Amino acid sequence: MQPERQGIREERWSERLAMVDQQLRRRGIHDERVLSAMLAVPRHAFVPPAMQYAAYEDRALPIGEGQTISQPYMVARACELAALGEEDCALDVGAGSGYQAGVLAQLCARVVAIELVEKLAEQADRALAALGIDNLRLVTGDGNNGFRDEAPYDAIVVAAGAPGVPTALVEQLKPEGRLVIPLGSGEMQTLALITKRPDGSVDRADYDPCVYVPLRGSGGWADA
Ligand code: SAH
Repeated sequence: MQPERQGIREERWSERLAMVDQQLRRRGIHDERVLSAMLAVPRHAFVPPAMQYAAYEDRALPIGEGQTISQPYMVARACELAALGEEDCALDVGAGSGYQAGVLAQLCARVVAIELVEKLAEQADRALAALGIDNLRLVTGDGNNGFRDEAPYDAIVVAAGAPGVPTALVEQLKPEGRLVIPLGSGEMQTLALITKRPDGSVDRADYDPCVYVPLRGSGGWADA
């Protein structure tokens, strides 16, 4: 894929190429559309000034309010498992910096991103707008309830660790829809792929071990 060789998307291009090659491709991310999307979206545009030096490092980084921008590998893995097609519609739960939402927006027709912390939602909105990503709607609220106005979704990606699968999210998936969610304890989770069968029941497959910030709100951890 040709990069948009202008402005912020061109900055730090070689670091992004190295990130895609070393952190993603060599570690088993094979979906070329996902790799192209990770190349297209400048992670540094979602990272606060004090952390700019580390924007392409192989780790999560603080973004304020006690939250983090996810590790590039986990973003790519979650996007790969979501298996989005060009015409699809996705829900991003726990928008945080807006980075993962921006990557999802390269992979499908429409993204709704939901974030609990208003200040983060505002920052994310600004970062996404500055990149001209406009097939995306950012809302503030509790993602455990999904976002009914634009449901059903082909895929839902949750970027915070949950003790269980929020029922509203399964309800808001289309038949054969995919929910990617870190499931486990507050300290350690497994990235799980929940697939909704046509009869409404679900299949679960477990992938990478991971450590996400806790999902808060009605289906998450009471006082996290
Ligand atoms: N995908 C983000 C990762 C952010 S970390 C990125 O790429 O930067 C997870 C985010 O989930 C945090 O910003 C946190 O505030 C948010 N969050 C936690 N519980 C939530 C909930 N119930 N609804 C919406 N957002 C939630």
